[in-house]
Amino acid sequence: MLFGALEAGGTKMVCAIGNEQGEILDRISIPTETPDITMPKMAEYFAGKDISALGIGCFGPIDLNRTSPTYGYITTTPKLPWKNYDICGYFREKLNIPVGFDTDVNGSMLGEATWGCARGLDTAIYITIGTGVGVGVLAGGGLLHGMLHPEAGHILMPVRSDDTYAGKCPYHRTCLEGLASGPAIEARWGAPGRELGDRPEVWDLEAYYIAAAVTDYIMTISPQKVILGGGVMHHDGLIEQVRAYVKDMVNGYLVTKELEDLNSYIVLPSLDDNQGIMGALKLGMEELNR
Ligand code: ZN
Repeated sequence: MLFGALEAGGTKMVCAIGNEQGEILDRISIPTETPDITMPKMAEYFAGKDISALGIGCFGPIDLNRTSPTYGYITTTPKLPWKNYDICGYFREKLNIPVGFDTDVNGSMLGEATWGCARGLDTAIYITIGTGVGVGVLAGGGLLHGMLHPEAGHILMPVRSDDTYAGKCPYHRTCLEGLASGPAIEARWGAPGRELGDRPEVWDLEAYYIAAAVTDYIMTISPQKVILGGGVMHHDGLIEQVRAYVKDMVNGYLVTKELEDLNSYIVLPSLDDNQGIMGALKLGMEELNR
């Protein structure tokens, strides 16, 4: 049986065909323009591929409340052409198959929980730190939605005393995304992160903020695994610095086997950057079985 998978992002749409084993058999990438331009291209790709369902891991915020009239919509996104857009409805109508839907980060979390480093766990978090910051949460064996879905990239942060940067988030200034996203790094230091590799103060501060957030998630969610993905985490050595700060910040308050082995507890993604598209595939599989 074949399934469609869509990793819907603000700059590109990754469309793929895969099977129940999580194997990605074909994929294309389409630039994210307006729905009028981009949606028909994606529908054309999926049509005639004999897929039984489609799964979408989507940028947000999105409506995941199945009883809501706007379930399956992208809602208040700052990407205006996509605001209040019924992305699931479009595919249901064009392809006439079940469409599973969740946030991009919940998708990545599901990929890691199904086929990756969080397999067999019931509670874990997947954090992406890139253009934005998002957190997918697996809690008690299922993806956490609550009233909407977690937006834990926007938790309010303690600003370190040596940091004079005002923060990038238009809503909260110095939330995690406002202090630690790729654009925040560039705005604070005057160059993108990939050009700042030789400046230890950049990565020390970055690790500090990521670790402060991770410590808060450890205290609130009690994850059995913490996965750190996204472009910023590609910087060599950053995850080691994050682990060291987390150890300081937890400060011996919790004693668990996980926290005694931080190298296995706080990890990079395990699926060669396929966790998002594999998770979307799984969302499609789960929708078919609902
Ligand atoms: Zn914010």
